[in-house]
Amino acid sequence: MTEHLNLNEMAGEGLLENPYLLVSLFDQHDILRAANPPFCEAYGARTDGSMSWEQLIRENYEQQRGVRIRADDIEAWIRSAYSRRGKQPFRGFEADLTDGRWVWMTETILPNRWMLCVGMDITHQRQEGRELRYARDLALREASTDVLTGISNRRAMMRNLQQQVRSAAEQKRQLHIALIDIDHFKAVNDTYGHATGDQVLIHFARTLQACIRREDACGRVGGEEFLLLLPDVGQQQALQICERLLERLRKSHPLAQLPAFRYSASVGMTSLQDDTDTARLLALADGALYEAKRSGRDRIVFRSAAEISN
Ligand code: GH3
Ligand code: MG
Ligand code: MG
Repeated sequence: MTEHLNLNEMAGEGLLENPYLLVSLFDQHDILRAANPPFCEAYGARTDGSMSWEQLIRENYEQQRGVRIRADDIEAWIRSAYSRRGKQPFRGFEADLTDGRWVWMTETILPNRWMLCVGMDITHQRQEGRELRYARDLALREASTDVLTGISNRRAMMRNLQQQVRSAAEQKRQLHIALIDIDHFKAVNDTYGHATGDQVLIHFARTLQACIRREDACGRVGGEEFLLLLPDVGQQQALQICERLLERLRKSHPLAQLPAFRYSASVGMTSLQDDTDTARLLALADGALYEAKRSGRDRIVFRSAAEISN
């Protein structure tokens, strides 16, 4: 009989002390729960439950330590990073640190929705072409990012939708999608000008991102129209997430120069049934959105494929 070997016992303390390995564990709310000493050292990380991934990034940016952030606008950088973080069961990418090291970083979603991040020091490997690979990754990222709001653009969301529909159908998992359109947005532009309209769009994207779970994907698919993908939730929870968004919008003060300004949005939602045609799924959500507008705006309408065929 083969003896069962325990990795921890075999490797002892040494495995997690290894300076070439940067190991961290984030919970489903992206709070850092554990990390090995080399990670804490490089990123200035705290593992007492008081530090979120976003905080870690902000502190790294302010103190010029940890991950090297090549951006003038940290807010846009964070929004763009969130549009990729935790959206797939696994991903890996090359990243550089402010101390000059390069790491191959992997992000694995665990069954309990926590994320295990393992970075391997590759400073002395595959150096040739590194800047070129970095430039390619940046270009790919830019090609899938909406310039104004920093979240995913239409092209990225359509690709995302195709993938999610395919994997949900294969694995018999639930998938809800929502089309969200800002109400009377033309009037915002007409009354306060296009630049103010842009400010509202940025505010909306930020609020949307703050309301969803790490595994949910959102993007701007039209002028003031956004698409939200909610995997592995039932109708109740999907509605709750969108209701929370509308509630936050109602209460928000998006424009510092116009404190009394308020706005709202309407949501058309549907869920994946047996039919995996993405065009049809979008048409259902669009029909529901139209209904939400027609019946007074600032609300959610859910429409299932079954209702239509009945
Ligand atoms: P409804 O409640 O029915 O959705 O009305 P609406 O006014 O929001 O819808 P409509 O489709 O009539 O207007 C959308 C406006 O969005 C028109 C367009 O000028 C504006 N828009 C599109 N893209 C941008 C952008 O990037 N920035 C700004 N500021 N405005 C934009
Ligand atoms: Mg609109
Ligand atoms: Mg519209």
